[in-house]
Amino acid sequence: MAKKTKTSASGKSGKHVYLFGGGKADGNGGMKPLLGGKGAGLAEMCRIGLPVPPGFTITTEVCTYYYDHKRTYPPSLKPQMQAGLASIERITGKKFGDVKNPLLVSVRSGARDSMPGMMDTILNLGLNDQTVEGLATKTGNPRFAWDCYRRFVQMYGDVVLGVQKREDEDHEPFETVIHTLKHERYHQDIEDTKLSPDDLKELVKRFKALVKQRAGKDFPASPWDQLMGAVGAVFGSWMNDRAIVYRRKYNIPSEWGTAVNVQAMVYGNTGDRSGSGVAFTRNPANGVKEFYGEFLINAQGEDVVAGVRTPEPVAQLKSHLPKAYQELERIRQTLEKHFKDVQDFEFTIEDGTVYMLQTRNGKRTAMAALKFSMDMVKEKLIDWKTAVMRNPADQLDQLLAPVFDANEAKKAQVIATGLPAGPGAASGQIYLNANRAVDAANRKEQVLLVRVETSPEDLRGMIAAEGILTARGGVSSHAALVARQMGKVCVCGASALDIDYHARTVKVDGKTFKEGDWLSIDGTAGKVFAGRVATAPSEIVAGLVDGNAAAKQTEKFKSFQQLMKWCDQATRMSVRTNADTPEQTENAMAFGAVGIGLCRTEHMFFEGNRIDAMREMILADTVEARKAALAKLLPYQRDDFAGIFRALKGLPATIRFLDPPLHEFLPHTPEQQKDLAKKMGIPAEKIHARVEQLHEFNPMLGFRGCRLGIDFPEISEMQARAVFEAAAIVQAEGVKVRPEIMIPLVGFKKELDLQLELVHRVASEVQAERKTKLNYMVGTMIEVPRGALTADEIAQSAEFFSFGTNDLTQTGLGMSRDDSGSFLPHYAELEIVKKNPFATIDRTGVGQLVEIAVTKGRATRKDIKLGICGEHGGDPDSIQFFEKVGLDYVSASPYRVPVARLAAAQAAISSKR
Ligand code: ADP
Ligand code: MG
Ligand code: MG
Repeated sequence: MAKKTKTSASGKSGKHVYLFGGGKADGNGGMKPLLGGKGAGLAEMCRIGLPVPPGFTITTEVCTYYYDHKRTYPPSLKPQMQAGLASIERITGKKFGDVKNPLLVSVRSGARDSMPGMMDTILNLGLNDQTVEGLATKTGNPRFAWDCYRRFVQMYGDVVLGVQKREDEDHEPFETVIHTLKHERYHQDIEDTKLSPDDLKELVKRFKALVKQRAGKDFPASPWDQLMGAVGAVFGSWMNDRAIVYRRKYNIPSEWGTAVNVQAMVYGNTGDRSGSGVAFTRNPANGVKEFYGEFLINAQGEDVVAGVRTPEPVAQLKSHLPKAYQELERIRQTLEKHFKDVQDFEFTIEDGTVYMLQTRNGKRTAMAALKFSMDMVKEKLIDWKTAVMRNPADQLDQLLAPVFDANEAKKAQVIATGLPAGPGAASGQIYLNANRAVDAANRKEQVLLVRVETSPEDLRGMIAAEGILTARGGVSSHAALVARQMGKVCVCGASALDIDYHARTVKVDGKTFKEGDWLSIDGTAGKVFAGRVATAPSEIVAGLVDGNAAAKQTEKFKSFQQLMKWCDQATRMSVRTNADTPEQTENAMAFGAVGIGLCRTEHMFFEGNRIDAMREMILADTVEARKAALAKLLPYQRDDFAGIFRALKGLPATIRFLDPPLHEFLPHTPEQQKDLAKKMGIPAEKIHARVEQLHEFNPMLGFRGCRLGIDFPEISEMQARAVFEAAAIVQAEGVKVRPEIMIPLVGFKKELDLQLELVHRVASEVQAERKTKLNYMVGTMIEVPRGALTADEIAQSAEFFSFGTNDLTQTGLGMSRDDSGSFLPHYAELEIVKKNPFATIDRTGVGQLVEIAVTKGRATRKDIKLGICGEHGGDPDSIQFFEKVGLDYVSASPYRVPVARLAAAQAAISSKR
């Protein structure tokens, strides 16, 4: 691979063009990086004998070359393309540019990961005033020939020559020309299929005039020039705005590039025994095993997606073209058997014969992914480990998202129904335009984007919205596609909606809804409700957390449990939780957490009137006074810990001693200071002075963490006593207790030692007082670079490390999380950082600190226990890294626990593969 990159980067040699057709292919399905998803899929379908029109793929390396060399091509590309065309000509018996039997081709983009709607396709390339006559004569179908020609001029004019809607225009200029002609000649909007050959001929003429006027040059007549122009446009589209936005959202590196596919045309527009469609081998919204898709008779493929006409469900083909339907069913079976996954494919029927134009793993909702994986194991199509891998961890929370409360939904008024394209429940204030939806979301409104249909320009608005509702469009509409991909709640094709963009209203069922009014959509049932319908926990949450018996009987719940069981079988790392209360602990355990990885004790100083004692402690002048104040806190903390230990039922708990800067506990306004002064019977000035004294320029790097416990050992002593007394009490109740005391922000071994000595001393005191033996550990958080770099020294004292990757990222990058919002988005745009380092661990930088600490820690103490308790513990991508460096566990917030379990299992499975 490395060698290949090298030769092609020099551009002098190398294979740039991969042929497919006639049951053979140079490439195969495994070559997505080089051939793009579409090219690899076409090659693989050829290999397994599916009917694919012949063609060739220009590799993604040529795209990279193109951008590295001022938008030029490697010299050997041209001869290889000519050879490719010759091969297509041989297989089809047609000739490119021939006036008697012209070969027409499509030019299609295809990136490694499919980027639907992002790149532009050109069909019927190779037509000019001469070849069109040849095509008409050869087929005896002038309407068809001229329909192809007008489509070609229109697409090419748009995509390659840039004749597009201008700011001041409401409609695409080519569509305006069509509209005008229809009204001139028929005085109404007739269907495109009703246009006569002469109408189409006239359209071509007018289109060309439009091109000349807008682009300032003649429409190219030479097929070869047309081809090179189209190839350039596909490569050029890799850097268009839409593609860039999409790549950013899905973290697709721009280096990947796109491939170009040049393929012989097959024609879905020759008449009533022809058509085009898209289909899924199973239902990608809810996972049901049924043939799912749609088609249009007498149409080319772009009509299906463009929403010009409303497609029919694929089942209708059964009566209309039974042979073709049978063939599609056979193909559906073949695809699943071969790819062992649900396929999303595109086909064209030419005079009753089916041709395959694309296949890929179908995008699916989390619900469908779960059902597919369960069903396919039952069908023995895949094994259970593959089933685990098939559920995207970062989508799993879709399954935990609330659904509409059944009773509320019954009472609510259904005002329309549509296609259930994205399962789940969403309520929001409606907006009819993407920009206004984004603005509203920025104002923290809950937004529902309502459109007649969506297009890629609406993407930002769709991302910002809770849910998407459209009046038009079927399973292959843009809205449905995005819903599957992003897990958005979506109802599409709710045709009862009368949407008026101009008035910004939606009329339905005799009512009018204005922008800002509330609607609710049920993307599982395809229902639209007036107003705001209350939600209830998903069946999984209801079953696990609330123990709801009915919920436990649902297929969703059972499948989820099965999946989690497999996860446990596969995983090496365990999953703990970040929890500070018994309730959070119980929830997390219901989700399968096997202990607490981080119990923050801050709130134990805050709640109720504890804060008064805390403030007293901070304001005290003497150790005695401080101790007296702390003594008031002790019983509270002891109770808190006892509650948590009971909830844990013997599972371990990592308890972090006080961490935040002290000034966070003091009142800051003069009024609050006066109040406190009165309560405590001291002068307000004294409080003011102490607050001033504690003020810091960089609290994040200031008097906090173990620095507090070192300056005020009485605080740590009190906390240790609270932990151990609680442990003794709960242990006496017959519950096993396993506290792991964690000292925060350690950078020097001596810091830990000072606290360690104190903890052990208090432990012996309590054990002696209570005449009991306690099982506990003391360890540290690794969250400053010095701690990571001197981990060998620290491990002499620490029995465990827990990586505090939030602070380790802040201190490792020298970047405050709370202040990074002003520049981080720009950094992401410039690709200085590929992902937000506070969400996904920066492997090469911060990750290296983790690796160093792991290696050094283990070198000193072989069995040192290693975990991670930062935000990254719930992030699938980071979890994969933690598996790689060999941590023992990750800790995530309670509702992220299932995600972490799935991600940990997947990381373990893929590390063995
Ligand atoms: P996208 O990536 O947006 O799906 P495609 O390259 O798949 O774009 O092209 C869109 C549609 O154009 C296809 O689904 C198919 O219907 C039609 N198409 C592409 N190539 C051909 C071809 N060689 N013959 C007939 N139709 C084609
Ligand atoms: Mg396609
Ligand atoms: Mg920290």
